[in-house]
Amino acid sequence: MGTFKLGKMTLRSLVHKPATVRYPYEKRDVEKLFPQMRGHVVNDIDTCILCGMCQRVCPVGAIAVDRKAGDWTIDPYRCIQCASCTHECPKNCLSMGLWPTEPTTELTTVTLHKDMPAKPAKAAGAGAAKGGAAGTGAGAAAGAAKPKRELTPEQQARVEAARKAAAAKKAAKAAGEGQAAGEAADSGAQ
Ligand code: SF4
Ligand code: SF4
Repeated sequence: MGTFKLGKMTLRSLVHKPATVRYPYEKRDVEKLFPQMRGHVVNDIDTCILCGMCQRVCPVGAIAVDRKAGDWTIDPYRCIQCASCTHECPKNCLSMGLWPTEPTTELTTVTLHKDMPAKPAKAAGAGAAKGGAAGTGAGAAAGAAKPKRELTPEQQARVEAARKAAAAKKAAKAAGEGQAAGEAADSGAQ
């Protein structure tokens, strides 16, 4: 039985093409054979928002994101091609390229730059308000940053009533204190 199997295999290999190729003179169509191969990390920097999620999930610290400077940097020789960053990216701008990074004698990093849009005017205004808080007080700055909320007539009435009650309470307290002071002065004179 074993001899029969061996003979069959020998005959087949005589008529079939060899299973191997003469690498590096011949290369196989890797893209077609192994479309899921994880060679290196590719970032579509135009879609990237420099949120830093990839940096946080990378188990070997191969990615560095500097949002202020607008730089996304990867150390391809530290990367272990685990593809965690590609799964966690909220913008799906990371993918795995098929081919591994070229061999090198010098370890280098790859930096992609993106100009981030300037802060919106509102945020700038809030910043200015914060800066001016030294002169006008923090309460005034917070008031400038937040627009006043519109009250319904019922709410307005409740606010008015509460305000009147507080004023009456304050006046009664002041009158009570005045009376107490007068009595104290009278007893002192006696
Ligand atoms: S997770 Fe995606 S969007 Fe965020 S910095 Fe990394 S590549 Fe850019
Ligand atoms: S593939 Fe893995 S090791 Fe490479 S940068 Fe992404 S998270 Fe880090």
